[in-house]
Amino acid sequence: LRGSGPKRYLGVDIGGTKVIAGVGDADCRLESRVLRKTRFDSGGEVALRNVLAAAQEAVSAASAAKIEAIGISCGGPLDPERGRILRTPNLTGWDGLPVVSIFEKEFSAKAYLDNDANVAALGEAVRGAGRGKKSFAYFTVSTGIGGGFVTQGELFRGSTGNASEFGHQTILPDGPMCGCGNRGCLEALASGKSIARRAKELLRSGNTPSQSLMLDLVSGEIDSLTAKDVAKAARAGDRIAQSVWEEAAGHLGLGVANIINILNPERVIIGGGVAKAGLLLFGPVRRVAAQRALPDLARSVDIVRAGLRDDSGVVGAVRLAVLKSSGG
Ligand SMILES: [Zn+2]
Repeated sequence: LRGSGPKRYLGVDIGGTKVIAGVGDADCRLESRVLRKTRFDSGGEVALRNVLAAAQEAVSAASAAKIEAIGISCGGPLDPERGRILRTPNLTGWDGLPVVSIFEKEFSAKAYLDNDANVAALGEAVRGAGRGKKSFAYFTVSTGIGGGFVTQGELFRGSTGNASEFGHQTILPDGPMCGCGNRGCLEALASGKSIARRAKELLRSGNTPSQSLMLDLVSGEIDSLTAKDVAKAARAGDRIAQSVWEEAAGHLGLGVANIINILNPERVIIGGGVAKAGLLLFGPVRRVAAQRALPDLARSVDIVRAGLRDDSGVVGAVRLAVLKSSGG
């Protein structure tokens, strides 16, 4: 009875440090879920082996004899049409990798590729904080900042498929350099990487750095400081860490206000590792967005954390497979 029974879809969310693979049904309920380290620091070959192993494991753990279709999420820029990764800063050694055809050969099913923020927005639309909402804007705030805008259950893609680059709106014209070559992008001010960078700058600037808890958390190794450390120190009352969060989250609030004014969404959803900071992030974001967005638009929107937490991407990848394989 091979191939009979309800259809099953494989979703794979590939990140710079970890991959989450899962098999789900047409309603995107996960039947299996496997998390592995990707280890891109050991080279592209090792990372690819780990990604495929995670996907195999997820398929083995599911009941289906056959996979209907595969959805793949990873950081851009990508060529979704040709199923290739173009040039990615976080997936070392994968430039030009034909990830779609590799998966199609491995699992004998059609595969579809899209960028991580778009895919996570799809996940939130079907099973997360976007469920039942007519429109919402999704921000993923982690190493970088990405975005997705969903209206009537569908992603808005723009003329070349690159819409919703919320992280590359200019917030400070003379601000820090962004990876994209522009100055003062939201990503250069409020991503996890930027939060860590700003804290390091302040610790090295000589403003009573010897008293900062952040130095204790990293045993004096300023280079190894992460946004997570800055959050820990801020919660414990460290003034410098608190000011870094206040400033970064305030900038994110400006970015959110701009998106509210442009798209008039019913909800703004924020996911990604930096959203784990909770009120440290959401407090200033909500306050600044309420001050800066037009009053009527600000009143009709709420700002919430992603409902699926770490699984927005894998659930969204299953959704991508369901949509694309049914001609969506
Ligand atoms: Zn930028």
